[in-house]
Amino acid sequence: MSGAKCTRLSGTLIKQVLDSVDSVLFDCDGVIWRGDQAVPGASEVINLLKKHGKKVFFVTNNSSKTRKLYADKMSLLGFNVTEDDVFGTAYCCALYLRTVCQLQGKVYLVGSDAMKQELEAVGIQQTGVGPDPISGKHADWANVPLDPEVKAVVVGFDEHFSYMKMNRAMQYLNQGCLFVGTNRDSRLPLEGGKAVPGTGCILQAVEAAAQREAQTVGKPNRFMFECVASQFGVEQERCLMVGDRLDTDILLGSNCGLKTLLALTGVNTVADALEHQRSGCPKRQGMVPDYYVESIADLLPALRE
Ligand code: PLP
Ligand code: CA
Repeated sequence: MSGAKCTRLSGTLIKQVLDSVDSVLFDCDGVIWRGDQAVPGASEVINLLKKHGKKVFFVTNNSSKTRKLYADKMSLLGFNVTEDDVFGTAYCCALYLRTVCQLQGKVYLVGSDAMKQELEAVGIQQTGVGPDPISGKHADWANVPLDPEVKAVVVGFDEHFSYMKMNRAMQYLNQGCLFVGTNRDSRLPLEGGKAVPGTGCILQAVEAAAQREAQTVGKPNRFMFECVASQFGVEQERCLMVGDRLDTDILLGSNCGLKTLLALTGVNTVADALEHQRSGCPKRQGMVPDYYVESIADLLPALRE
């Protein structure tokens, strides 16, 4: 197999790479779907990988759905998966608080109803989901009522994020609460070159207010891989990470010693990867994938053989 990085995966090399792995981790948005549409050929790729005896998992930084909701979305898009195969940051963040932080107490949640559900599923209570109850003028913002049982501030995607939520998070953090974020994706690309702010923007606002840095659970943190590996016995040397982002997916793969494949159906381009490679900067080399494809559908001819 070629030792050079950032090699186009085509021809006989596809089979060689697939033969060298037992498990494949797919990023979701930009790789198997784009928004609400499946990437053409993606469900067949997944079915054929399974038919060839590969274990297939899905890892997404999007904290706005529970595992169950991801499984429902995926069935609707024609994918054959169960919720146990999906690792989203709402679920992984709840696991992180329970197992790594061993949190005793409640969470002040800047996040979605899905995060609330995943927290509750591991026995963690939250306050804060939905719009902040204090709106408009409040005489004493630095003295908003706080819940004494809150021991952690958790930040994920929150469409109700507001000045009051940022303020409340800051007040809890100033009291020394644990500080955990789901992920740092700063922009969410949409069709037609458009984009909207991602969770990273919300997290940075809270970090700036509190003058503290959060620990983040999502890609590129190894924790996402460890969740999959510990539940399914995945061997890192025989695992392929497929993603569309260099700073999350490909870096996660590099951080965990996985083989990495960039799919060009999402955020980053080959030129972005080559820029990291040519920079010579050691820290940026983890963002250079081993291989790239235009789309994961490029794997189909080898899988159909
Ligand atoms: N966070 C949010 C809120 C999103 O909507 C998305 C993509 O839709 C992401 C993160 C990135 O998700 P993924 O890791 O599947 O690319
Ligand atoms: Ca993605």
